[in-house]
Amino acid sequence: MKDSFGREIDYIRISVTNDCNLNCRYCRGESAGGQSNCFTQMLSSENIIDVCAAAAELGICKVKITGGEPLLRKDIASLCKKINAISGISEVTMTTNGILLGHYAESLYDAGIKNVNVSLDTIDRERYRSITGFDGVNSVLKAVDTALECGIRVKINSVLYRDAFENDDELLDNCTGLADYFCRMGIDVRFIELMPIGPGTGQIKYSGHMVLNHMKKIFGTPGICNETVGNGPAVYYSFDGLSGRIGFINAIHDKFCDRCNRIRLTPEGRLKACLCYGENIDLLPIIRKNNRELLVSAIREVVNAKPREHCFEDNANITEKRKMVDIGG
Ligand code: SAM
Repeated sequence: MKDSFGREIDYIRISVTNDCNLNCRYCRGESAGGQSNCFTQMLSSENIIDVCAAAAELGICKVKITGGEPLLRKDIASLCKKINAISGISEVTMTTNGILLGHYAESLYDAGIKNVNVSLDTIDRERYRSITGFDGVNSVLKAVDTALECGIRVKINSVLYRDAFENDDELLDNCTGLADYFCRMGIDVRFIELMPIGPGTGQIKYSGHMVLNHMKKIFGTPGICNETVGNGPAVYYSFDGLSGRIGFINAIHDKFCDRCNRIRLTPEGRLKACLCYGENIDLLPIIRKNNRELLVSAIREVVNAKPREHCFEDNANITEKRKMVDIGG
C-alpha cells in the first residue's frame, strides 16, 4: 500500500527477539555484559504469522527477520518456513551476526531463506573482540562459507563505527580489508553509516563518502550499478578485479527517506514506521482479539502515519529512546 507521501510500503522488518549473543558497543552497549534483556511478553510464532498475514493483505510482501539475534530463537527455522508459506509473501530474508549461522544454514535454506545479511564490522580478531565483546570472528567467517555451500546468498553489512579506531586511516584500512576479503569471494559488502540510536548516539557520524573515496584510491575508478540490488537503499559500485560489489547506506549524509519502503515490528509487538521516532502501535492486544480486519486496519494506521523523513541530524527531535537491539536494526 502507499503511505501518505506516495511511497509504496511493501517491506516489513520483524524482530523476533531482543536477546543477542554479542554486545556491540554501538548497538547493545558494553553494559549488557552478556545478559539478556527480558521482556515479560514476546510475540509467539502464531502472533508473528498473524501480523504477516494481515500485512500481506495490504501488499507488504517482503519480510526481513531480525533481532536482537534472530538465530537465538529456538523455533526460528519453522517460523521462517511458516511465514514463507503465507499467501502474498514473496520473500523472507534474514539479518544475523553469523555466530550461529553455520549451525542453522541448512535448515534455514530448507525453510526458504535464500538470502542472508551477515553483520560484520571487521575481519580482525582483536578488533572484532573489542567491538562485540566476544572472540567470534572465525566462527562468523566459517559460517559464511557454510551458508554459501548450502546455497544461501550472503551479503556483508558493516557499520562505520569510527570510535573503535584510533584514526580515520585505521578505519579506512579496515574497510578495505573487509571489502577485499569478501568481494574477491563474489560477496557484496555494504557500509552503513552509524545512526544516533541507543549507544550509537553522540558518536562520530562517519560518512560513507570518505570510505568510497578511499576505495577509489585502492581499487581504482568504479562503475556505478544502476540496477536495484535487494530491498534496501544501498548504492552499489563495482570495481575491476572485485566480483562482489561495494555498497553504501548513507542514512545520515544522503538521506533516502523519499525511497523508504518499510515498517518495523518489535519483538514485543509494537509496530513502528520510522527508526528515528518512538511512536508505535501495540499490536498484541489487537492480535489477541483474533480479528483480522482490526489487525489490518492497525497496520494501515501505522503506514498512514509514517513520517516524511527521519531527523537523525537533529538529536533533540529524535524520540526513539530504545537501543537498536531492542527495536531490530
Ligand atoms: N543481530 C542481527 C545482526 O547482527 O544483523 C540483527 C540485529 S542488528 C541490531 C541489525 C543491524 O543493525 C546490524 O547490522 C547492526 O550492525 C546494525 N546496527 C546496530 N546499531 C546501529 C546503529 N546505531 N546505526 C546503524 N546500524 C546499527
